[in-house]
Amino acid sequence: MTGIDHRLPQRRQLLTALPGPASQALTERRKRVVGAGVSSAVPVYVADADGGVVVDVDGNSLIDLGSGIAVTGVGASNPAVVAAMQEQAAHFTHTCFMVTPYEGYVAVAERLAALTPGTHEKRTVLFNSGAEAVENAVKIARSATGRTAIVAFDHAYHGRTNLTMALTAKNLPYKNGFGPFAADVYRAPMSYPFREGLNHDGSPITGEQAARRAISMIDKQVGATNVAAIILEPIQGEGGFIVPAEGFLPALVGWARDNGIVFIADEVQTGFARTGAWFASDHEGVVPDLMTLAKGIAAGMPLAAVTGRADLIDAVHAGGLGGTYGGNPVACAAALAALDQMERLDLCARARRIEDRATARLRAIAADTDLIGEIRGRGAMLAVEFVRPGTREPNPEAVAQIIATALANGVILLTCGTYGNVIRLLPPLVISDELLDDGLNVLESAIRDLR
Ligand code: PMP
Repeated sequence: MTGIDHRLPQRRQLLTALPGPASQALTERRKRVVGAGVSSAVPVYVADADGGVVVDVDGNSLIDLGSGIAVTGVGASNPAVVAAMQEQAAHFTHTCFMVTPYEGYVAVAERLAALTPGTHEKRTVLFNSGAEAVENAVKIARSATGRTAIVAFDHAYHGRTNLTMALTAKNLPYKNGFGPFAADVYRAPMSYPFREGLNHDGSPITGEQAARRAISMIDKQVGATNVAAIILEPIQGEGGFIVPAEGFLPALVGWARDNGIVFIADEVQTGFARTGAWFASDHEGVVPDLMTLAKGIAAGMPLAAVTGRADLIDAVHAGGLGGTYGGNPVACAAALAALDQMERLDLCARARRIEDRATARLRAIAADTDLIGEIRGRGAMLAVEFVRPGTREPNPEAVAQIIATALANGVILLTCGTYGNVIRLLPPLVISDELLDDGLNVLESAIRDLR
């Protein structure tokens, strides 16, 4: 049905309580050698993964509704990706593109130029992680404009390096105690329809109004002529899968263009068919000046990109961008195969189908409980925001319990949100309908258990 013959049985099956004994033993080993600052949401250790399942070291088969945080859209061991990586690794695993270049890097750049919004001339530079792509997009914007200020938004997440911590909104767990942070970074108000005030006449604040509010803050507190770039996730990821009101993005992009400000769309989480289009910017017809891309690009291999306007990216002096591993040849081979799979299996359509199927179920669940404040998202990037009954007050405790119950029953679910009260669904795009339905059944009974 999904067009892939999966290697592992696509079923949920628990042989032990979770975590099982082998996972527990690994947790003990880990405590003695792995830094405590790295935590794992799910305390089971993986032995295998394929399609919509993750199999742990005790033989339990769990339904994966997280895709390793929106990475394994094409599956965690997609045969075409595996074959491409094996073929590349058998020839060379590394030379460094800055020393002796190779075709795969160029081919990935060609594909990204064709796939990303806009028909203008584009350039791409490859990196290893989303945060590194964001850092470099900022370097490019500053170099090209000769300005220094960067504006990010409430609820934003852009990474864990020093500059990207400064861009990220949430203190715990990302920033606490890690300052001082990079200078000349400012934060503007976001459009968050569920947590937005109303106009005096009781009508909702429109996307354009929310954009004007942000622009006014930037004008007054920073000054448009000082701003090199504004950076925005078209749908905010870690912040809570916040879909801004329609019109917010186009209004900001228009204003940025009128003022010589680079508009950076951080599509690290939203990119590569996840939202039912190649990129979330496509839904609003927005053409970013620069895009930061990672996660879904290479089925789990560390690869990230800045893609965008040739005039901006080529403004950087020779040797100003790069890194030892950026655009690693095995990662590029994985990306080219993963992009082929997205096209061949029409994973944009598949993401839209997941949206239809899952939102219908989620709406039915919401009709039966007063714990759900909002269901939102696009494609296979869906969120359920939990509240205290009869209010809009965040309910992170309910979320923690639902996640724990779902896991005990073999379903991996992730949370997000500034208030920790959002469950996000990010299934692999190649998950079968049956497995998705089974995962949603478990979610439903976990919610029912709370009532
Ligand atoms: N930007 C966004 C929108 C993200 O969601 C993430 C990762 N969650 C990052 C940047 C950072 O990516 P990485 O973890 O690969 O550095």
